[in-house]
Amino acid sequence: MTPSGAATIARENPARTDEIVGVVAETAPEAVDAIVREADADQRRWAARALPDRLAALARAAAAIEDAAPGLATLLARESGKVVGDCRGELGFAVRYLRWVVEHAPSAYADRVLDDDLGRIVEQRKPYGVVAAVTPWNAPVILAMLKIAPALAAGNAVVVKPSPLAPLTVSRVVDLFGAPVRVVHGGADTGAALVGHELVRKVAFTGGTAGGRAVAALAGDRLTPSVLELGGNDPAVFLDDAPFTDDAMDRLVMASFATSGQVCMAAKRIYVPSSRLSAFVGAYLAAADRVLVTGDPLADGVTMGPVISAAAQRAALALRGGGTVHDLGRFEGDPASGYFVRPALVVEPDPGSLLVAAEQFAPVVPVLGYSGEESVLAAANAGELGLGASVWSADEERAFAFARRFEAGFTFVNTHNRTGMSLRAPFGGVKRSGWGREYAHEGLAAYVQTCVIHAPAAFRPGAAVAGGGPSAYPAG
Ligand code: NAD
Repeated sequence: MTPSGAATIARENPARTDEIVGVVAETAPEAVDAIVREADADQRRWAARALPDRLAALARAAAAIEDAAPGLATLLARESGKVVGDCRGELGFAVRYLRWVVEHAPSAYADRVLDDDLGRIVEQRKPYGVVAAVTPWNAPVILAMLKIAPALAAGNAVVVKPSPLAPLTVSRVVDLFGAPVRVVHGGADTGAALVGHELVRKVAFTGGTAGGRAVAALAGDRLTPSVLELGGNDPAVFLDDAPFTDDAMDRLVMASFATSGQVCMAAKRIYVPSSRLSAFVGAYLAAADRVLVTGDPLADGVTMGPVISAAAQRAALALRGGGTVHDLGRFEGDPASGYFVRPALVVEPDPGSLLVAAEQFAPVVPVLGYSGEESVLAAANAGELGLGASVWSADEERAFAFARRFEAGFTFVNTHNRTGMSLRAPFGGVKRSGWGREYAHEGLAAYVQTCVIHAPAAFRPGAAVAGGGPSAYPAG
């Protein structure tokens, strides 16, 4: 509570649980209405500004965020437990994405005009109005930016509801925009008040399946269109010719353990030919010794921090079992200072266990042996989630042929997520991993609605109309 009695959210440092990193005022669900109404009024003024004018404001925001990035990265590391190098990377990526939007919005949001002897058609790209952006804690800046940047460029206003587990950095980033983007703080109730508001015309949600289902139901009830980016249980499949080079193994280890495994597109299940399993485990443990150092996210050389909360720590510890458990890498510092979990590889757990069949979102990763490409494909495609995947092979053509058969929205070849993400390609899941896309042209298109004006040539003033006029079902 503040002295005035208003509720607050105090964010602790998950690496040092005796430290409060910052405090934000909580937005009660009943306070959301006034904020959305202000956003709605702002939106009309913002949309009335010319596109180059709006983009100039976004370019200034990109410069301001870039200037503030070193301090923001430290704040992000302290509130989320992510290592500070990754936090710098996230802020840099957010700035690059914002600039990418500034560059590509003019073509994406331009009118398309067709004027020929059949008549004139103008396709306009119009903003929706107020966009509700509900985001998770694990990459709070970039996941908000993927919504804020195209939505504002298109002429929408945005109200962001970040996770209460990482509310601080994203609030600072929003403050650097000279544009109609606001933040409301709170949990599911505040999020529900926002998503279900009558003046919200588009919902963009990133988070888990349960939250996504609740948000989709609220949006559906109002017929508000939505983009949902949900969880994944990404398989990483090594074909029988994939070399276990140091580089490949180093990439794979960090693809599972960056942000303590709490990444939507982490490599969450590894499949290796049974005949090569023991060689793989040896190479993997050696790679973990090289690259995996657990400790204080602000310390030099640390590559993995704590998990986000006490509940996440309990859930992660419960997953360490059901097969041969290998502790990975080394620990530096005091494991009792925060929510640390020793990273682990679990060899050959039960394929039906929670660790294999569901998204673990924790620093515990299973490896399973297989024989035959059809069987591993069936295992990789099992389950309801279909976010990312990877295939590893010495032969890129063979890898692409295999990759075509994954039920996943985004497949990597010879890497998994890290160092592989591209601004040029759309990203999003299939099956129960979401609907809609972010990044690239589809990410821009998500924030405009197409409105058509059509003057058929036959009805132009002065045109000769024969008989009853053209059919209502023209040929083209
Ligand atoms: P979460 O679903 O618990 O929360 C996400 C956001 O939704 C938070 O702001 C939360 O307060 C809000 N929320 C939750 N329930 C709600 C409800 N009923 N009504 C309105 N708002 C609600 O997710 P999390 O724990 O913060 O993030 C982890 C999940 O997000 C994982 O499943 C991860 O895979 C997924 N994720 C997906 C992507 C992607 O791009 N596909 C990216 C990052 C994380």
